[in-house]
Amino acid sequence: MKADKANGIVLAAGSGTRMGGSVPKQYLPLCGKPLVVYALEAFEASAVDEIVLVAARGEADYCREEIVKKYGITKARVIVEGGKERYDSVYAGLLASECRYVLIHDGARAFVSAEMIDRCLEAVKRCDACVVGVPSKDTVKLVGEDGVVETTPERSRVWNVQTPQCFSYPLIRNAYAAAMAAGAEGITDDAMVVETMTDKEVYMIEGSYENIKITTPEDLLLGEQILRKRARI
Ligand code: C5P
Repeated sequence: MKADKANGIVLAAGSGTRMGGSVPKQYLPLCGKPLVVYALEAFEASAVDEIVLVAARGEADYCREEIVKKYGITKARVIVEGGKERYDSVYAGLLASECRYVLIHDGARAFVSAEMIDRCLEAVKRCDACVVGVPSKDTVKLVGEDGVVETTPERSRVWNVQTPQCFSYPLIRNAYAAAMAAGAEGITDDAMVVETMTDKEVYMIEGSYENIKITTPEDLLLGEQILRKRARI
């Protein structure tokens, strides 16, 4: 194995229930191409060495033929099946990876660029754990179960976190193994696994407001606008 080998884990094992309809959201067409292909193409064009694609149960063969082969994603040599929750899918991707660095990415974030991925890769080689995000435009409040506002964090320090989330491979693999053994309750991103299971610092690097996660039908419309805007540039 190359000493600084970097893998991208692209997650496409969600059910996409908030999208409605019968086609899983990762295969919905966006300007004529299945959603997940956009992120795969960005990783293909980046300095990442290998892509591990995490498909939903029973969809690995479909992904190999209709996504990876059809769109020429030559770096996607490993396709594994994910699990019930996002963290189960991440862990399946981690167990199937052999590398020094790993960039974990939501396949539903179609607008990640090869330039951003390369920036992540350079950063993780310096700090071992970093995530992309954007400063929150809104004031955020923590609210109790009774609906009462508890506190208001200082807005200039609140960031909305995105993916890629990037780590030294042994760090995230060991942290995930510990979290899974502890029951894995409430894991909503990968950085929090490092935050809670290790004493390693996680650095925030500037992402993009266009790096949205396509979740609802309105997001698909927004996604098409972003693609049209990019085509004009
Ligand atoms: O559901 P949500 O939009 O938060 O999912 C974020 C990403 O994680 C998506 O790319 C989705 O395909 C993936 N995911 C997964 N396995 C799950 C749930 C979500 O790979 N069980």
